[in-house]
Amino acid sequence: MNNAITISKKKIWKLLEQVNDPEVPVLSIIDLGIVRDVKINNDEAEVIITPTYSGCPAMDMIKMNIRMALLQHGFQKIKITSILSPAWTTDWMSGHGKEKLKSFGIAPPTSKQQVCHTELFHEGEAIQCPRCNSYNTRLTSQFGSIACKAMYQCNDCKEPFDYFKCH
Ligand SMILES: [Zn+2]
Repeated sequence: MNNAITISKKKIWKLLEQVNDPEVPVLSIIDLGIVRDVKINNDEAEVIITPTYSGCPAMDMIKMNIRMALLQHGFQKIKITSILSPAWTTDWMSGHGKEKLKSFGIAPPTSKQQVCHTELFHEGEAIQCPRCNSYNTRLTSQFGSIACKAMYQCNDCKEPFDYFKCH
């Protein structure tokens, strides 16, 4: 019985690696670090997640995608629980996830939390260009192609790029 639970849990964690963030499809929800726990209660599978941004419309889609992934692999009773506290921060994103973002041409979030939580962001903190690694970049728009990104432009290579906003 306990063994079966362990196998099911492992299977669920594997399946969750296949569930991508609809806004940044190179990242799985495991890369994002939003999956807090997986539980098996009798015949019910429970996935506990912390939303990246409250009110982020992608969260509904993520929940639906988790449900679909588990349904397709034989789980019938699925519960998805959101835990809001402690709040998700970009520090929970895996190193692997940050690398993936960069190779996708999106500047990964800076890991310095104090920077993220100050007004510096709004004045344009030094964000590294994902293409040429220059810090000589400027904020062009707070609102990128999606709500959770900001648009930057590199002053050196002139490339515009998205920055995954700190939170
Ligand atoms: Zn550049």
